[in-house]
Amino acid sequence: MTQTITVIRGDGIGPEIMDATLHVLDALQTGLEYEFADAGVVALEKTGELLPEATMDSIRRNRVALKSPLTTPIGGGFSSINVELRKRFDLYANVRPAVSFPNTKSRFSSGVDILTVRENTEGAYLAEGQTVSEDGETATSMIRVTRHGSERIARYAFELARSTGRKKVTAVHKANIIKSTSGLFLKTAREVAAQYPDIAFEEMIVDNACMQLVMRPEQFDVIVTTNLFGDIISDLCAGLIGGLGLIPGANIGTDAAIFEAVHGTAPDIAGQGKANPCALLLGAAQMLDHLGMCEKAERLRAAIVATLEARDSLTGDLGGDGTTMGFAKAIAGRV
Ligand code: ATP
Repeated sequence: MTQTITVIRGDGIGPEIMDATLHVLDALQTGLEYEFADAGVVALEKTGELLPEATMDSIRRNRVALKSPLTTPIGGGFSSINVELRKRFDLYANVRPAVSFPNTKSRFSSGVDILTVRENTEGAYLAEGQTVSEDGETATSMIRVTRHGSERIARYAFELARSTGRKKVTAVHKANIIKSTSGLFLKTAREVAAQYPDIAFEEMIVDNACMQLVMRPEQFDVIVTTNLFGDIISDLCAGLIGGLGLIPGANIGTDAAIFEAVHGTAPDIAGQGKANPCALLLGAAQMLDHLGMCEKAERLRAAIVATLEARDSLTGDLGGDGTTMGFAKAIAGRV
């Protein structure tokens, strides 16, 4: 049966990097059908809504979406469309690969290949329980961790490790100090780990994990952690390999999964054909893994690496003078 995906071309550089990405996916002969749907400013202009019901229906139906960056206008009714999508589809796992690539300006241009799996729905990121006393002297916030939330994120990390041939999962925590919430997360992760004897399991306290990531990042394979630590660690990992330009993100739920580039809409270069399409292309590779097309995902990643190695048609951010579509064509020629 043909697999249809929802494609959201997005705002700013979104349409350019999406066209480039679909060009490469077509060269890979994935057989995917595309259903285009609007969100963000484009949708607001057409329909008066940032997240039209037709777009929600499309994601619900297809269960997989490839999404370019979106602009959330101030006063649009949401603090962020991305956060709203996560909430509405209960996208509990945020997965960010950080891989060192050749010919990029970075601390580590080899040896880094880390998948950070971040719990996306609970932990310290709760809207409720945030208070400031009337005199402004005392502020409180709440952390909530559940066995259910910890169990499903840990299981997702182990299943991902297994399906992508990875060898080790490291649970990052602070259970020595935050005994209740981080303790429950760690206890649950240990229980899940016991069900995956083929994957090595390691525990690391978050402060040590940060130091180890900077000193010896090659020791990490899959990291699983709670919301706040995951937010920080995934950006730390991005920094190791040269910033957000080469980092995709997957938001995974039980009923839907949305794949994207981590960077924003880059209005300063929009419409000029200068944007680097790699982050969205790598998001598409994550999507292919998710759809069970792991061989095609690997071919796509290898073609990106080969194109970077050859310095063929690279965009300005990577020191070249190529265009978005020119770069994509060079990658498509190597898949
Ligand atoms: P937003 O408000 O949507 O987050 P932003 O401009 O604040 O947009 P980014 O879009 O992440 O944040 O851009 C930060 C900088 O990185 C900008 O100078 C932008 O031009 C550059 N940049 C971001 N993505 C790319 C890309 N794919 N290719 C080249 N440069 C990029």
